[in-house]
Amino acid sequence: MFLILLGAPGTGKGTQAQLLAEKEGWLHVSTGDMLRDVVSRKTILGEAAKKFMDQGALVPDELVISMLVERIGQADAQAGLILDGFPRNLAQAEALDEALAKAGRCVDLAVNIAVPDEELVRRLSGRWMCRNCGAIYNAASGLPEKCTRCGGELYQREDDQPHTVKARMQKQKPPADMMSHYRLAGRLVDINGLQSVDKVTKQILNVLDDWKGA
Ligand code: AMP
Repeated sequence: MFLILLGAPGTGKGTQAQLLAEKEGWLHVSTGDMLRDVVSRKTILGEAAKKFMDQGALVPDELVISMLVERIGQADAQAGLILDGFPRNLAQAEALDEALAKAGRCVDLAVNIAVPDEELVRRLSGRWMCRNCGAIYNAASGLPEKCTRCGGELYQREDDQPHTVKARMQKQKPPADMMSHYRLAGRLVDINGLQSVDKVTKQILNVLDDWKGA
């Protein structure tokens, strides 16, 4: 199963991907997490990506596509895989199709989590993460002192600070041509992301059950 989660920043893709990966025993690959990792390790790719990320812009395709294609070619990505944060545009979607086709695979389902802009700005400005394991917390529901999963330190990402959030939203909404790409292929399912985390997970699981039964 190759599932991708689409949606603007703050729709809950990362949270849902973590929950679904744990539940189904699938590998979760997040390009945002991979990029934050290379930035913190100050690799050449990290240094190149950092300035785009700090401005809330997308990292150029030529840097992200090769990183992702290499990752999904590894042995642990050959069974169930859930992709979060990629593709972000049509060029990335086409590059993904091409890389998968070479391995005799394809995107089985693209789930789009839809949330209105005002709600996204509110959510992102209150989002905190664990520096160690990447778990996501929201200030609106009260922040624990340390990560409840691993005890790591919580921090607010530079690109989740209120001054960057609006710019990021505008630059990073899933573009219409990429959505049409999946819609026309009959792979796209829309989910209302204004519901509780649990309800969104349940609906995605229902979609997966339908797919498995089809
Ligand atoms: P995310 O954790 O998915 O919100 O990603 C954090 C940041 O990483 C984004 O704001 C982008 O700057 C960058 N990024 C993540 N995934 C991609 C991608 N597929 N293409 C370009 N930039 C990306």
